[in-house]
Amino acid sequence: MKISKKKVGVIHYTLKNDKGVVLDSSDGQKPLSYIHGMKNLIPGMEKALEGKVAGDKLDIVIPPEEAYGIRSEKLVNDVPIANFPEKEHVKVGVQFQANTPEGPKVATVIKVEGETVSVDFNHPLADETLHFSIEIIEVRDATEDEISHGHVHGDGCNH
Ligand code: ZN
Repeated sequence: MKISKKKVGVIHYTLKNDKGVVLDSSDGQKPLSYIHGMKNLIPGMEKALEGKVAGDKLDIVIPPEEAYGIRSEKLVNDVPIANFPEKEHVKVGVQFQANTPEGPKVATVIKVEGETVSVDFNHPLADETLHFSIEIIEVRDATEDEISHGHVHGDGCNH
């Protein structure tokens, strides 16, 4: 069975940046399961996995445009410190999940000056060229439920 729209792909992966530093890996953990064609993965990864079968191994290089995007200064915003529920945790380098019009995003505090906090809504991997080593473990049909929910059901799903 080939990976195509509405198939579940089960993969092991290792992600490195341009310098060869490992940023993320499923090594030693359960493989990642995702539904193809439902934006579960970054576009460059879906493109590379299309048509692949269990047992295939691939090394791919994904430019930022097809990964987490190009850094934009427009995504750096000043926010009053009063907007943060726990002021004492607001420090440079702290990351948190923020709700934005485009959905939840990881945001990073880059400056605290008096009552003003500069928050960077660029993805932490913006501007990065990503190097993935991927092994396809399994390809199967997604269930009706999985397709309607837009995510894979299994051990980690509690509904
Ligand atoms: Zn669900």
